[in-house]
Amino acid sequence: MSNRRFVDGFERMVKDTIQEYTLIDKKDKVLVACSGGKDSTTVLYLLNKLGYNTEGLIIDLQMGEWSDKNLENITNFCTKEGLKLHVVSMRDEFGSSVCYMKSVIKDKLDIESCSVCGVTKRWLINKKARELGATKVATGHNLDDEAQTVLMNLFRGNLVSFLRGPKVDTAKDAKFITRIKPLYFCPEEDVRRYTEEKGFKILYDRCPCSFGGMRSTIRDILNDLEKESPGIKENLVRNYLKFTPHLKKQFAKSEVKRCSNCGEPSRREVCMVCEYIKAIRGS
Ligand code: AMP
Ligand code: ZN
Repeated sequence: MSNRRFVDGFERMVKDTIQEYTLIDKKDKVLVACSGGKDSTTVLYLLNKLGYNTEGLIIDLQMGEWSDKNLENITNFCTKEGLKLHVVSMRDEFGSSVCYMKSVIKDKLDIESCSVCGVTKRWLINKKARELGATKVATGHNLDDEAQTVLMNLFRGNLVSFLRGPKVDTAKDAKFITRIKPLYFCPEEDVRRYTEEKGFKILYDRCPCSFGGMRSTIRDILNDLEKESPGIKENLVRNYLKFTPHLKKQFAKSEVKRCSNCGEPSRREVCMVCEYIKAIRGS
């Protein structure tokens, strides 16, 4: 396929996903959660190109050279594209880098490192989005991420997460900002090719902490299956999306409480982030 046709087809896919799942309204202010990597940079670029009111937010995880490079790349990208970028520092927010938090929490609560990072990022992104007056948060999750997540949630029986699709609005709480995933149907390989065609300056390395664990095993299995039966990842998420409206009806919107400590939306009496902070401070 010619480069031009590939780029047009990719952009059409994103546009169709936004329309089909009514991800964004022209009145929305969309905050793109940017890691500095290929996926979220593509989302930021395309939402702006499609004319939506778009700004970026990066959490500086302070994980050494990898974080510094990602921060530098997205800062330069936003300057070039004339986009506003908000930078939040993990150390300013929590008093320690994510690496330190992860090692203490692993020791004290025996929680896996990627989970600590994911929960903390989501908590902070939601809070900042609200403070900045954003009405949607967009993330860079792609087809590969989502196919892996469908299987992981199924294996773990995680029903609340299982019901999520390209638009995460299952929580009944005014403090929870709807999250959207415009790259839901875009295979990782295509996102990579798109950024290469566009000449974005990106670091393609994965997070230095993200090796091993169930996700990585499922990624390998799905990649093998995709080689044998091309299209299997897309089939998996499309078939899954056929079930979710029925399940959503049955389980309605999940009840969300407010954390009794920080006041953020939470399914627990005290949210996980407050549990993490308590473990770190040793109280
Ligand atoms: P991950 O949790 O690393 O798989 O990333 C999932 C999504 O979260 C990415 O596609 C981004 O939209 C967002 N994200 C990841 N890291 C950051 C970060 N440091 N700051 C802001 N958003 C992030
Ligand atoms: Zn809390």
